[in-house]
Amino acid sequence: MPSWTHNFKSFLNLFLQSHCPLCQRSTSDALCQYCARQLQNCAQKNPCGSWQGEIPVFAWGVYGGSLKRAIAVMKYDNQPDIARMLGVWLGEAWLSNSPHCHTQLLVVPIPMHPQKQKQRGYNQAALIAESFCQTTKLKLKLNGLKRVRETQAQFGLSMSEREKNLAEAFAVGQEFRSPCPDIPLLLVDDIYTTGATTKSAVQTLRQSGITVLGLAAVAIAVKDQHTSS
Ligand SMILES: [Zn+2]
Repeated sequence: MPSWTHNFKSFLNLFLQSHCPLCQRSTSDALCQYCARQLQNCAQKNPCGSWQGEIPVFAWGVYGGSLKRAIAVMKYDNQPDIARMLGVWLGEAWLSNSPHCHTQLLVVPIPMHPQKQKQRGYNQAALIAESFCQTTKLKLKLNGLKRVRETQAQFGLSMSEREKNLAEAFAVGQEFRSPCPDIPLLLVDDIYTTGATTKSAVQTLRQSGITVLGLAAVAIAVKDQHTSS
């Protein structure tokens, strides 16, 4: 390569380089290597630990530490690239750990209310589902579910208040109404906390005769042993 081309490229790189949204080091990736490594340490050894019961949950990591921070930055600091990166990691974990990694599934992200999505500019669950599907080669159904009712923030509500808050928050998307899909669905979300949102979404789908295998989430909130009773 002639040296002027090389110089021009380095010159361009100066502008293409951006800063890591977590620590401000310069990087051309979604996160710098240091933060990406920190985040990788949040991965669960066994993502299938909660894959049981009425709504099985497959979770890449435990909600806390740098994962909690990365998710907050992804949602509230306009960093959709973090969602894409986490979606790939969730997909890789699914391929190497899930008992259903060879099952044909339709992937549906938990939707946001359109108004809220307009404010944020993207639905992080949809971005996670998108790169999850690119990694796993599963079929994405972006509009399998829709959010029909704006719900108040779940923070500070009791479990029964949360469920009431979320009742009828979802509706089955147009493409699933007729005919009903004949292969099971896997829901995708960023965080699984109390499960109230997932439960409401699953109920809506199951009431329409749609089979839901479970939920794949980037992070699962594990109850603190010291504060829970
Ligand atoms: Zn960083």
